[in-house]
Amino acid sequence: MRKKNVVLTNIPVSDYAAEGKALAKVDGKVIFIEGGVMPGDVVDVRLSKSKKDWAEGKAVHIHSYSKDRVEPFCQHFGMCGGCKWQMVPYELQLKYKQQQVVDHLSRIGKMPLPPITPILGSKNTVNYRNKLEFTFSNRAYLTNEEIAAAGDGVIEHKPALGFHVPRLFDKVLNIDTCYLQAEPTNLIKNTLREYALANNLAFYDIRNHEGWLRNVIIRVLTTGEVMVNVVIHHEAKKQREALLDHLLAKVPSITTLLYTINPKKNDSIFDLEPKAYFGKGYAEEKLEDYTFKIGPKSFFQTNTYQGEALYQVTREFAGLTGNEVVYDLYCGTGSIGIFVSKQAKKVIGIELIKEAIDDAKENAERNNVTNATFYAGDVIDICDDAFFAAHGAPDVVITDPPRAGMHEKLVNKLLEIGAPKIVYVSCNPATQARDLALLHEKYTVEKIQPVDMFPHTHHIENVVLLIKR
Ligand code: SAH
Repeated sequence: MRKKNVVLTNIPVSDYAAEGKALAKVDGKVIFIEGGVMPGDVVDVRLSKSKKDWAEGKAVHIHSYSKDRVEPFCQHFGMCGGCKWQMVPYELQLKYKQQQVVDHLSRIGKMPLPPITPILGSKNTVNYRNKLEFTFSNRAYLTNEEIAAAGDGVIEHKPALGFHVPRLFDKVLNIDTCYLQAEPTNLIKNTLREYALANNLAFYDIRNHEGWLRNVIIRVLTTGEVMVNVVIHHEAKKQREALLDHLLAKVPSITTLLYTINPKKNDSIFDLEPKAYFGKGYAEEKLEDYTFKIGPKSFFQTNTYQGEALYQVTREFAGLTGNEVVYDLYCGTGSIGIFVSKQAKKVIGIELIKEAIDDAKENAERNNVTNATFYAGDVIDICDDAFFAAHGAPDVVITDPPRAGMHEKLVNKLLEIGAPKIVYVSCNPATQARDLALLHEKYTVEKIQPVDMFPHTHHIENVVLLIKR
């Protein structure tokens, strides 16, 4: 069983595993399985890796289905990397995410835990994203049927507008209807594709770095605003204006239309300058009564409703009375800090990206928040004794690090500073558990609240309240 490319047959899937995979045990060996399978399914697995104690591979055939399985709602399920758990009923997804939090915190965290309150499920399990990006590519990902249809002939590359296929950097799956974001998203995407095909506009070739149409980033917000940013490789004024005019005519609900010229090899727009073609050039989103400016490059929680719920849990855990000095670490565009500002004496936000801090300052002003200040820089560099001395000892530290979790240096600093409360918001319970194990030296975990921001995916958000002993 050490060989690769072996196909194991009739394997009963017994559990879920990390990163959206499933798991089976064969002769004491753990097999991680990809490809839309769930516990209860019996499958054939083609191994791609095989070690002494574990192996991984892809399900190539399903013999029988789990009794819990539901019909996936999307035509692109199985090929698109987007919503891998559509076959799992939402209630079961939540149960599993809850279990993941329990497992991580108890196995890695190794500390006494309070009962974990049931995960907050998402009211909307489709159309829940406020931001979505599609990619233009001159190489569509072809289905097995399409390849078979070509027979012995040469398979011609077709243009596509959709999502990258996992692990195939140059292949894009043409997406007809996507259920991650409310309309007019599909209308925008399909209008662009139809127009580009009808007018022979060149879809980008990521291998040879040529072509014209690169990406489209769409924001559909609860305020009713729709912001679209079309990314092209180079300026071609007449062609660009014709395309953008056509889009505006077909989709009158667009409130802001921008374009960005990206001559670089990579897709990132963070070092580029989006230009407004129509509308004010940004949009606004609301959380409770707070309004946030969303520029074409701004970061914002991608599920507005659940983002609001997450912040409410965070604020409740912070237990503010109006007298507290609150530090908002990894503050992004300042949204958590602003959200709790009314209940705090003052808020100090810290974030690596300068543009995000500019947004945070603007957002504070927009909401008449006068007790919040924001600083750009690495938390490790900024959070020194002089900084805490200058801004006041924290009563509450709110920390919301990226997936990698907090740097050990910061954890040590927090232990040294010893704020009475830490609220730890995490998008990765595994690294959160690691950090909690260190914080356990001085802190007790008081409350744990998982929140589901991303239905049909394996992503989990978890909020933990730590109290200093
Ligand atoms: N709290 C925010 C954003 C959380 S995402 C919100 O709810 O919207 C995590 C943020 O941490 C990102 O904005 C990222 O730019 C920032 N970040 C990552 N590493 C950092 C570091 N070393 N120092 C400061 N900020 C960092």
